Amino acid sequence: MAATVRLHKTVGVRVGQVQVGGGAPVVVQSMTMTDTADAAGTARQCLELAEAGSEMVRVTVNLPDAAAAVPEIKARMADAGCTSPLIGDFHYNGHQLLTRFPECAAALDKFRINPGNVGTGRRRDEQFATICKVARDLGKPVRIGVNGGSLNQELVLAKMQENTDRALGRTSEEILNECMVISALQSTELALENGLRKDQIIISCKVSRPRDLLAIYRDLARKTDQPLHLGLTEAGMGMKGLVWSSSAMGILLNEGIGDTIRVSLTPRPGGDRRDEVYAACELLQALGIRSFAPSVTACPGCGRTTSSTFQELAERTQDYIREQMPVWKKTHEGVETLTLAVMGCVVNGPGEARDADLGIAAGRGKGHLFVRGQVVRVVPEAEMVDAPVAEAEAIVAEGIEARLAAADENAEAIAAATREELLQIQGLDANHSDEKVERIREIAD
Ligand code: SF4
Repeated sequence: MAATVRLHKTVGVRVGQVQVGGGAPVVVQSMTMTDTADAAGTARQCLELAEAGSEMVRVTVNLPDAAAAVPEIKARMADAGCTSPLIGDFHYNGHQLLTRFPECAAALDKFRINPGNVGTGRRRDEQFATICKVARDLGKPVRIGVNGGSLNQELVLAKMQENTDRALGRTSEEILNECMVISALQSTELALENGLRKDQIIISCKVSRPRDLLAIYRDLARKTDQPLHLGLTEAGMGMKGLVWSSSAMGILLNEGIGDTIRVSLTPRPGGDRRDEVYAACELLQALGIRSFAPSVTACPGCGRTTSSTFQELAERTQDYIREQMPVWKKTHEGVETLTLAVMGCVVNGPGEARDADLGIAAGRGKGHLFVRGQVVRVVPEAEMVDAPVAEAEAIVAEGIEARLAAADENAEAIAAATREELLQIQGLDANHSDEKVERIREIAD
């Protein structure tokens, strides 16, 4: 799939082995939710997230124990062969932790600084400068991560006062959005004054409402060429988090705004943290910006789907692809461009199933399995859930052309077969009506 043109031109920033901005593909990132002081547990989650497709992983570094654990987390990731950059998230005490724990600073590939949580007044600038100097001396990049919930209140009050004094008539929403951008740009200037280069600074301005995110990031894109980390903060749980995140982030990404993304989802109790990585990858793939895994198209189902087999089929196929991708992406270059279609009936399903590289149209008691538009076989219901998975395995192992040759042979056999032979080829019982038998021939043709 061709990458879309990135309309917001940005400076490239190197984070470990990954480039963010400067024309690089949009980078997927995520954040752990373990106690960082638990080095083994945190490293395990970093590895899971990285394997799921997170190209950078962030951990909170909130306390001395967490800072002390960072080198071990990094070492465990390296021992497992994981090269994903490790990012430290600092609030309030970052200046202390980064100077008291130099091994932590050295192990991290990027520091996230929230300018609203660095301190107040003169101390804010001093403490911010301390973090910048550590980054400068170690040659590390930083993210200046402004957050709507922790915006610099002195700046907000000054802007509110200006609005009143000069009778500007601006809404508080407009003022807050402007303050987000001002905070990010002023902090960027301060970082540059403290010795960081432009190619060491990434910016984010996260808020929790999609409409505000659109306004803020469009404004940022007009005013800076620093790469932008895009995400809706506190997006929420499940469907709400997914819809709110993708509604805003999708529009901005489609406008070429955003160099790295995180989808911030609240996991259900016992839920899977990797869901936010899958969501970010799906968002980029949906927009045609990047391909991460074979895409599975599934129809919504309707009155024509007569059992839960179809839903099991769609779920099994999607889960299987996710399970296999960590291996396939290393062993089978280009596998992510494969298209799969799982359709619920043989009336409208075959059209979409034919258009995919691998498709199945599930019918009453059987499904038709297509490879690049040709029927490979008709599958009895008992085998239907596993059939696309088995065929996907065969395509990855043998290649699509070999499977097409098999489909050709199958089509010829079906065309030449008598009714009895045809039922035998398809593994069907003798009760099928002539009409159904002809339908099998038509679909195979
Ligand atoms: S493909 Fe068939 S089962 Fe699926 S929504 Fe369309 S008509 Fe319904």
